Amino acid sequence: MKPIKDNLTEIRERITAAAQKCGRDPHTVTLLAVSKTKPVSALEEAIAAGQTRFGENYVQEGVEKIQYFSANQNLEWHFIGPLQSNKSRLVAEHFDWCHTIDRLKIAQRLSDQRPADKAPLNVLIQINISDENSKSGITLAELPALAEQVAVLPNVCLRGLMAIPAPETDPERQSAVFRQMETAFRELQGKYPQADTLSMGMTDDMDAAITCGSTMVRIGTAIFGARNYSVS
Ligand SMILES: *Cc1c(COP(=O)(O)O)cnc(C)c1O
Repeated sequence: MKPIKDNLTEIRERITAAAQKCGRDPHTVTLLAVSKTKPVSALEEAIAAGQTRFGENYVQEGVEKIQYFSANQNLEWHFIGPLQSNKSRLVAEHFDWCHTIDRLKIAQRLSDQRPADKAPLNVLIQINISDENSKSGITLAELPALAEQVAVLPNVCLRGLMAIPAPETDPERQSAVFRQMETAFRELQGKYPQADTLSMGMTDDMDAAITCGSTMVRIGTAIFGARNYSVS
């Protein structure tokens, strides 16, 4: 395993190359470092190498890291895991973003529970674009109605869409799925100008995601190495 600093350099170069290859400005793609299961020492290495945005999947683990790094005002924390309503308060109180809105009840609770002294919580609606086995996310058919309801909540800001497509070995099928997301995102932007974020692409599919308009890639393994769930 190479140093995290070198991995970050490589990922940034991969983002730049993928963007340039399809004529996009590399600065329009944000790198979210997915640090779930990783110790704070790993995040410290990433921060020392200039990384400021981190994604966490588990509420308690994420909150502990946010509190550990609370003296650093430059960091931005994204909740990217499935969210149960009994955990929404911790997300509303501590995180800057939530990528996994899949029902009005959760968005409503996050808005109600967002502390008054904080900016509205940035939220993304999660689309279940191709993974029939996953219960997370809504269908594209359900998107217009949910977006309309989320957009009017006072303490959340609808910033766009997120998807975790099923792993796909055929590049054409993979692109087709990403293209569907791109189209849905453009339509959403037409109605909600503040929606500027399409969160898609992970270690194995980030290049195709960038080609299809992703503005935020969520990268764990390529930065921090493989995850070991048994010790966490
Ligand atoms: C774990 C995770 C990632 C990172 O995946 P890698 O393949 O390790 O890059 C991205 N997004 C979500 C929602 C995740 O749970």
